[in-house]
Amino acid sequence: MKIDFYSAKPYDISFFEGMNTQYHHELIFHEYSLNEETVKHVENTRCICVFVNDKLNATVLEKLYNKGIRLIALRCAGFNNIDIAAADKLGITVVRVPAYSPESVAEHAVTLMLSLSRHVHKAYNRVRESNFSLQGLLGFELHHATVGIVGTGQIGTALAKILTGFGSKVIAYDPSPSDECISIGVQYVDFKSLCQQADVISLHCPLTPDTHHLINNKTLKNMKENVMLINTSRGAVIDSKAAIDSLKNKHVGYLGLDVYEQEENLFFQDLSDQIISDDVFERLLTFPNVLITAHQGFFTDEALRNIAETTLNNIQRFENNSECLHCCHI
Ligand code: NAD
Repeated sequence: MKIDFYSAKPYDISFFEGMNTQYHHELIFHEYSLNEETVKHVENTRCICVFVNDKLNATVLEKLYNKGIRLIALRCAGFNNIDIAAADKLGITVVRVPAYSPESVAEHAVTLMLSLSRHVHKAYNRVRESNFSLQGLLGFELHHATVGIVGTGQIGTALAKILTGFGSKVIAYDPSPSDECISIGVQYVDFKSLCQQADVISLHCPLTPDTHHLINNKTLKNMKENVMLINTSRGAVIDSKAAIDSLKNKHVGYLGLDVYEQEENLFFQDLSDQIISDDVFERLLTFPNVLITAHQGFFTDEALRNIAETTLNNIQRFENNSECLHCCHI
């Protein structure tokens, strides 16, 4: 089958072409993102492959349908960027990669926690300038911390396993608790109690109308003084302006972000010679206790191999009229 890829980066091309030697699809790569403005460039075809910041609302989907598209293959887990109800109505199948390597994201969340708790981002720069002072680098141990995990699906569970290894006390909130987490000693509490008890809060729920701005002025006030907040789920789970207020009044002590509400205008591009017009993002960068990575939680060799394999297999199954294994439903 001919597959048109959008938001394609050199690493996508490399991993998909490598894996395609087993599938023999025709792969066409487009660097630009797919959205209301760019949909006019899409050629008549049956299948497209998109990523997290391609925005496929009802208008875009209708245009895609009229161009013959019947399969949208997401090369990611989250599907908040596609209007699934509209796709269903049009009869467009949407498939995704539900589990490519939960450990890749869980380990990245731990990377952010440890970098912030031990000020590694500051120490790195200091030592390069021959400043070997430890002043201001006093850390705390995850071993003695209570870590609250919001959403104990695949990534949250992988994180719970790592943290129990550290000896942290792990508490969690999830409307559907995981037996695996309970079996390793994770204690489930309601969201309010999690906010009140946790020294570190890590977000691993999907972005839905329920979780949009779950972290806001009110819920932030419920958290412990000096709390560490880590978000590797989706940007809009945190109200960024509320987080800035909380950082300014020193209530939030550490903020680690791999995702950001308006990231589609920034992430996955080299903008180093441009003026960034997003004042909220620029304000976040000014805090010494904020560490931001540009949506790289998934970015490991193991995960990219799995993403390419599952995506091409999803497409193969669609082509063969086999049962859809990873269809997105509302
Ligand atoms: P999952 O579906 O396995 O788990 C999500 C969990 O969240 C489920 O257990 C669900 O019950 C729970 N949940 C739903 N609503 C909730 C709520 N209101 N409060 C608390 N918990 C709630 O998903 P996953 O594979 O663990 O991934 C989690 C999220 O991580 C994805 O939705 C995606 O947005 C994000 N993600 C980020 C990256 C990255 O590179 N940073 C990569 C993959 C996934």
